[in-house]
Amino acid sequence: RTLEQVLADGIRDIPDYPQQGVMFKDITPLLADHSGFAQVVDALAAFGRDDDGNPVVDKVVGIEARGFILAAPVALALGAGFVPVRKKGKLPAATYEESYALEYGEATIEVHQDAFTPGDRVLVIDDVLATGGTVEACLRLIRRCKAEVVDTAVLLELSFLPGRKRLAGEQLRALMTV
Ligand code: IMP
Repeated sequence: RTLEQVLADGIRDIPDYPQQGVMFKDITPLLADHSGFAQVVDALAAFGRDDDGNPVVDKVVGIEARGFILAAPVALALGAGFVPVRKKGKLPAATYEESYALEYGEATIEVHQDAFTPGDRVLVIDDVLATGGTVEACLRLIRRCKAEVVDTAVLLELSFLPGRKRLAGEQLRALMTV
């Protein structure tokens, strides 16, 4: 199967979740498909390699919660460390935090202050890029830690939302765009 088929087969639309009028993209069928999951992890890991296939990142960041599921196997594939970026209040040691606006209200995400060695090269992974607020805040966190963002990759970009525009100037990859 091509990557396009794997993604088309494995991501389903759930209407009116988590609220009326929202079409939620659910990746759980993809995760339950071993060969599809492996193909997606390989494709994401490719963003952390140079043209000769050598890894060029020291850490892979996963954004809570579905980003964790994707970023951890990518980190192992690249011989890199894994760093969780979590919702406020979940990380036990000293953190940096960044807030961003949601449609209603605000969200805050955090990272451990000592999660990176200064100069670490970082690949950021999440499942879905919507408005781009989460990724934007995540990049701010990584830069506050004096690490270098090499690339940001998502499974799915929702192109009817302004995520890519909001992240103008960043290296941003999507395995699939709808
Ligand atoms: P953004 O900050 O608006 O770009 O929203 C992105 C965050 O919300 C990511 O962490 C996604 O996991 C989550 N998200 C937004 N829409 C969807 C969706 O349709 N399916 C799965 N996750 C979503």
